[in-house]
Amino acid sequence: MSNNMDNYNYWGDSRVINSLIGDTSSYGLTTRDGKIFLSLDDEFFLDEAYALVNKEGKFALVDLQNDKEVEGEILGIFFEGSIEEFKATDWGTFSEKMKRFIETLPEDVLFNEAVLSKYECVIPFKTVNCYQCDGKGTMVNPSIDAGGLSYDDFYDDPDFEEAYFSGRYDIQCSACRGSGKQTEMGWDAFAREYKWTNNKRVLNEKFGASVIEVLANYWQGKIEDYEQDQYDAAQEMAWERRWGC
Ligand SMILES: [Zn+2]
Repeated sequence: MSNNMDNYNYWGDSRVINSLIGDTSSYGLTTRDGKIFLSLDDEFFLDEAYALVNKEGKFALVDLQNDKEVEGEILGIFFEGSIEEFKATDWGTFSEKMKRFIETLPEDVLFNEAVLSKYECVIPFKTVNCYQCDGKGTMVNPSIDAGGLSYDDFYDDPDFEEAYFSGRYDIQCSACRGSGKQTEMGWDAFAREYKWTNNKRVLNEKFGASVIEVLANYWQGKIEDYEQDQYDAAQEMAWERRWGC
């Protein structure tokens, strides 16, 4: 790269930022027989504990670390670790509530993965062309055109123009890693816990009709947060290099 401006443009380019992100596609999801299922990753429930409950036909994921008592039939538990560790954890300010809760647990309560497999948590999806390369699997090397090219760049150098459009500077697309495809999750198939009415975020009264709806809602939030974190970290890394740190 010839000068500071090129360096600045290069590290600010979204294609370059994407190249700094690892493969995030399997976070919280697993593929089997052409279907995508919810799954648990290490630290998926780190510092969290939830009970899946059925309260008069309405399902909910109840955060065990809040002051409310758990009402309804307990169908499962999500916690980072084994059920024995769950029972042995020091719950601090929640210890009284957790003691009562643990006493009400069914002997054979489902735990983590067992909950997911019992409710067959299949999430619809479709495979679409990669948003960045539109299915080609390649992109122009950002070091060539990160700052944008002008008419003059080609006018002054017709060979460069020819080479540029012939794909000579193409490298693997940093968003799809060359596949040209991306998976679009069908989260919209499930009702959301909150909805927007008159610019206000309100509880969706109808939410909780099925276990899968409740879990999909939680997983979607978790996965989107994770992807955002990964992007933010890559952007920060690029930002530092932009200024030559
Ligand atoms: Zn791509």
